[in-house]
Amino acid sequence: MSKVVKFGGSSLADAKQFKKVADIINADPERVYVVPSAPGKRFKDDTKVTDLLYQCYERVLTGEDFAKAFAPVRERYDGIIKDLGLSFDLNEDYVKIGKDFRSGATRDYAASRGEYLNGKILAHVLGYEFVDAANGIFFDSKGEFDADITNACLGAILEKTPKAVIPGFYGALPDGSIKTFSRGGSDFTGSVVAKAAGASLYENWTDVSGFLVADPRIVKNPAGIEVITYSELRELSYMGAGVLHEDAIFPVRSANIPINIKNTNAPEDKGTLIVPTADSNTKYLVTGIAGKKDFSVISIEKDRMNSESGFMRRLLQVLENHSVFPEHMPTGIDTISVVVNSKELDGQRDKLAQRLKDVVRPDHFEIIDGLALIAVVGRGMKSKKGTATRVFAALSHADINIRMIDQGSSELNIIVGIDEKDFDKAIRVIYDMFILSEQ
Ligand code: ASP
Repeated sequence: MSKVVKFGGSSLADAKQFKKVADIINADPERVYVVPSAPGKRFKDDTKVTDLLYQCYERVLTGEDFAKAFAPVRERYDGIIKDLGLSFDLNEDYVKIGKDFRSGATRDYAASRGEYLNGKILAHVLGYEFVDAANGIFFDSKGEFDADITNACLGAILEKTPKAVIPGFYGALPDGSIKTFSRGGSDFTGSVVAKAAGASLYENWTDVSGFLVADPRIVKNPAGIEVITYSELRELSYMGAGVLHEDAIFPVRSANIPINIKNTNAPEDKGTLIVPTADSNTKYLVTGIAGKKDFSVISIEKDRMNSESGFMRRLLQVLENHSVFPEHMPTGIDTISVVVNSKELDGQRDKLAQRLKDVVRPDHFEIIDGLALIAVVGRGMKSKKGTATRVFAALSHADINIRMIDQGSSELNIIVGIDEKDFDKAIRVIYDMFILSEQ
């Protein structure tokens, strides 16, 4: 059985972190495929190597000499190599990168060198083979990730390479040029490698011990989440609970491979295990509580709306034409509230309102701003009665008015819309109701 281990930028920021990573990998012979990020921040105001590379690219573009613009990047890698006491250097790679810059390398190419060079050092430290992601991870001519070709090619490479380091964050376009994923994309690479290797587990090593039930900036010392399903995680990350790149679950999810979020600085902590399905007999009824601000409600009232043929289609068509995507649409007999991201209304609020009035001819029309949404997520809710009551009771005792309620029939979550000013308080009282009272 093989495990794929991905290490984020803070886990590989300097030689001290590299040593922790090597110890973690060497402690388990199943950790055979390693996906590194570029070196991240060593301290709060430090700059990530990826950002140094973007800066280097801009500077070369405006005519600065490559060697000078690249010096801060080179310093980071040479520092790591020196502090690890390695008899190894990246000089040939630096020369090649300089040549590529001079012959018009792209911004994506520049950024990708962060993972590429870090992967070379890590492969040397571990005695693992270095597999360039450009040879096994592919995009199509439209720039979309090509899952099928990647899985076949990377799978074939890994089959003959028992231990390898595969740099995160990039792959190749059909013409061989480099393309990167969006920021934080090494998480996605790790997932792709896990699928291609048919791994038993994808370990994602970072600087926190997994997911927390609520945002620690709002709730003091929140409990950790030990086990979460892919579907629960989707709900929570959509609401802004970040640790993992939002696309990273898809390749492993389709292959039924669990992800374990682990802390490089506290490897003995269990972290969070993300699994395809799990027992609904959970420690707490609620797995996580997350939320987002900045929503607006487009409120429409019209008598006999429900019997007007094509009403919904016309409404949605206007929204689509203005690139406004409904997040929730609670409806009554003669009312509909479309909850949208306030940002999507920027610059077109009046035009959109007029168009909606022309097309759906409402009796009453209003756009209300300042809505926050809170998702209370838990696979355990399905089998228990009274969860919604407890959410509403917690909010009502705290004198918080609920402006919208939405619960899907999957019963995986309850979403409430409240005034933005009540946001932090609402999260705290729901946390107290479901976690503190059950501790
Ligand atoms: N180094 C890239 C970034 O900073 C990708 C990653 O770390 O996942 O976004």
